[in-house]
Amino acid sequence: MTKLLSKLAIDSRILIIILTLYFGFVLNLSFWRFVSGHIEIGSFQMVIFAFSLIFFILTPFYLLLSIVTLPFLAKPLITLFLLISSAANYYMYEFGVFIDTDMITNIFETTKREAFDLITVWGFLWVFVTGVVPSVILAFTTIRYASVKRELKIRILSAAASLLILLTTAAASYKEYTSFGRNNREVRKLLNTINYTYSTVRYFQRRALTNREFVRLDPDAKVAPFKESHKTVVVLIVGETARADNFYINGYEKNTNPNLAKQDIISFKNVLSCGTATAISVPCMFSNADREYFDVTSAKYTENLLDIAKNAGYDIFWRDNDDGCKGVCDRVPTENMLGSKNSDKFCDKESCFDEVLIEGLEGYLSNITKDTLIILHAMGSHGPTYYKRYPDEFKVFKPTCDTAQIQNCSKEEIVNTYDNTILYTDYIISKTIDTLRKFPDFESGLMYISDHGESLGENNVYLHGMPYVIAPKEQTKVPMILWMSENMQKQDYIDYSCMQEAAKTDAYSHDNIFHSFLGLLEIETKVYKKEYDIFKKCRTKELP
Ligand SMILES: [Zn+2]
Repeated sequence: MTKLLSKLAIDSRILIIILTLYFGFVLNLSFWRFVSGHIEIGSFQMVIFAFSLIFFILTPFYLLLSIVTLPFLAKPLITLFLLISSAANYYMYEFGVFIDTDMITNIFETTKREAFDLITVWGFLWVFVTGVVPSVILAFTTIRYASVKRELKIRILSAAASLLILLTTAAASYKEYTSFGRNNREVRKLLNTINYTYSTVRYFQRRALTNREFVRLDPDAKVAPFKESHKTVVVLIVGETARADNFYINGYEKNTNPNLAKQDIISFKNVLSCGTATAISVPCMFSNADREYFDVTSAKYTENLLDIAKNAGYDIFWRDNDDGCKGVCDRVPTENMLGSKNSDKFCDKESCFDEVLIEGLEGYLSNITKDTLIILHAMGSHGPTYYKRYPDEFKVFKPTCDTAQIQNCSKEEIVNTYDNTILYTDYIISKTIDTLRKFPDFESGLMYISDHGESLGENNVYLHGMPYVIAPKEQTKVPMILWMSENMQKQDYIDYSCMQEAAKTDAYSHDNIFHSFLGLLEIETKVYKKEYDIFKKCRTKELP
């Protein structure tokens, strides 16, 4: 075999053409699938446009390959691009993801555990066939170059010719390009090699800003309660990948909320997330910046809700069973549940069931000495291994999809498995409420909100992480649930039935969290904006 391979030889000009076609078509399957789905060939103009688009995509590859196909440089560089492109192509094709800077941030800042969840036999095969095999063939092929002078002459002439073709065809379809481009801005994020190269450069540019000054929001924030008779204890459960529509209490046909349906809770029906990935949504939720102005790097260098509450005198405790707090909890006490000593009951080596988050909570609450804010960061419904997110007793909706290769499961199996994760989340939230109820002297409350939603095969899109502007509502519409003890309703002058009504019709988003919590925790600070406070409408008395 190696003997056969070692006899392979190819003229550099032919190699450039073959690689242009391979990168342009095979490694860009997702791009062409998107284009064929979004282009309407209704007129002769559009036929010309479709043809010119092929040149439009292939010419840059041809030019680039003409530049890098040089002795010593060609093989390592092209191999690198072959491997990355085939992996990127697989994720874009199979999961409908788009590759942008947020996605790259997600990849670099994801734990190994999550990354392994995404590696499947099918994915491995895909990369092997379209990335590894061509790389091996390339490695054993001798590239024959002409003399420097001749090589240069040929490349310059053919580059000039291809540029000319590109410009004429593009000029002929100028209008179609601008309208297609405007309507499908995101398509560039599917164009392999450009998408990840650009996004990776942007990611490192962002990271290079590390010497920034840390911004304090309000060093003078202080607790200014209506009355001081009770300790305030609020639990905020940050959910993972839960989408609003699969909650029975939001009108889903399957009973995924047998516990919460019996609790005296409020479910907010129209809530939008800040991002479609944890790395964006979680910092955004705790930031005072609105979604439109939110920047993940600036957030790392700016105080957030937890810092203000801490400065004001709250005890803060962040318990994490997900993929870390993305910088939000850097300055407050934190406990990471995976690998923590006491959690054998709910954990294996890879991950823990979310029940680990409330293990020992009752004991913790009995020892509270100050106003306290507890954040429980759940693993929730993190895919594609939904089946690993809940214990056996919660395997209620069947048949399930007990594999990471969700493309091999039917839609029904995927949805059933996902619904079981919601069923388990329902149990966790309800049990936390029950625990809080055991301390009637506290002014206690609980809020649950998910970081983003999930696509379960609608229009062939799976998982999450789509660019926000084109993300389907499955990825951005999130559940938000509130429970308040009677003490809290009374002490904070909140009309619960008014909240109940507002939750049905009013529109909310992650932008509301920062300010609503400042209100709920009765923190007096100049950064509080009452128009964002979801409780404002239903307070029977103004905040002091
Ligand atoms: Zn997430």
